[in-house]
Amino acid sequence: AGTLVAGVRVAPLGSLHVLLLVEDRTAARRLEEVRRDFVANVSHELKTPVSAIALLAETMDDAAEDPAAVRRFAQRMTRESQRLAALVQEIVQLSRLQDADARHRPVPVDVDEAVLEAVDRTRLVAEGRGVRIVTQLSGEGEGDGARGGTPAEVWGDRELVVTAVRNLVDNGVHYSDAGTRVAVVVSVVDERVEVVVRDQGIGIPEAEAGRVFERFYRLDPARSRSTGGTGLGLSIVKHVAANHGGDVALWSRPGEGSTFTLRLPLRRADADEQVAAS
Ligand code: ADP
Repeated sequence: AGTLVAGVRVAPLGSLHVLLLVEDRTAARRLEEVRRDFVANVSHELKTPVSAIALLAETMDDAAEDPAAVRRFAQRMTRESQRLAALVQEIVQLSRLQDADARHRPVPVDVDEAVLEAVDRTRLVAEGRGVRIVTQLSGEGEGDGARGGTPAEVWGDRELVVTAVRNLVDNGVHYSDAGTRVAVVVSVVDERVEVVVRDQGIGIPEAEAGRVFERFYRLDPARSRSTGGTGLGLSIVKHVAANHGGDVALWSRPGEGSTFTLRLPLRRADADEQVAAS
């Protein structure tokens, strides 16, 4: 005899095992639901730009006599294609993050340097929107000297750390008005490296604070889409944090801006051998 749980036959050995089986089955069902939701969301999200492109192509065909109109349609088609490409890239990235441990082959990652690169990649968009990005790297802050210059390093995947910070900075820029600033501060607190991204933007109501980390959840889908948002950015940040053994916290109030704090375990040079061996 035995019970079939997620394709594995387990002999009922005692009450503890029975309890575990029940939990297992609930978890398996929940996982299946999450997967089904994700597929439904993905197809919906992909359909939007695809239909837009199809419609634009059709209308462009009708407007063939009007070069100015054709150019306008072509520009919109380019924008929609870029959205589609960004969406596909983020979906692939997210499913990779969910499937595997991103620290498969961990390397020491200098968080100051990752932050500089993330900010660099966002700089142009920020300038275009009139938002100023200011950075304070570890060791540049008051009182940091007392730390004895512990480098702000973590074990992990450099590209993923850059992506996570970039998503946070990107959001800070996109959900803020011109003339405001986004501050990015790196510090070592206890045994963790913290990256704080603080904006002076529209903010997030408290009731929505947990939901914004869900895939495809947006407070204002139109605003998100108009800035090229995919609704996956924060979900990716959450997974990158988890894969590195860290977390991400949010403080916000509507009209007062938002502060996201990404916390990753500090790389201890003396523990390197253990990590490398595991
Ligand atoms: P998107 O691509 O829509 O920005 P995200 O997953 O990055 O997707 O964010 C989800 C939603 O959370 C956004 O659509 C927006 O409503 C809200 N949000 C994220 N960051 C901020 C921020 N810094 N300020 C205000 N709202 C934000």
